[in-house]
Amino acid sequence: MSFWAKLKNTLVMFMQGRHGADQLGMFTLIAGLVLSLLASFTGIGLLSLLGLALYVWTLFRMFSRNHEARMKENQKYVALTSGAATKVRQFIKRQKNRKEYKYFRCPKCKVLLRLKRGCGEKEITCVRCGHQFKQKA
Ligand SMILES: [Zn+2]
Repeated sequence: MSFWAKLKNTLVMFMQGRHGADQLGMFTLIAGLVLSLLASFTGIGLLSLLGLALYVWTLFRMFSRNHEARMKENQKYVALTSGAATKVRQFIKRQKNRKEYKYFRCPKCKVLLRLKRGCGEKEITCVRCGHQFKQKA
């Protein structure tokens, strides 16, 4: 067995039963990197300390054997950030298609809808709540 195969085998054995990387882990790793870079540019020692604390927390979570607690933390993080990620994705898509479609919200439930530009006034039925209203495009 080569040196690299032995090293890989040892690492696999070490990581068995441990939590590993997840979305929260990637976020804390990147946030720690950003804080460390900011600290090196600005010379503020506190940022460096915060970055180091995030690295330590990331490693603690990756090597933790308490899957249940780490999964709960990650689920909270995903629940907090998924709404924001969806809004950013929708905004980018709207900006890309703004010349082709007119975007508007349902007056009743506020869901985002769209109409092809230049089709005139249409009777709209909301896909979520079924509310009917007229909309120009
Ligand atoms: Zn609606």
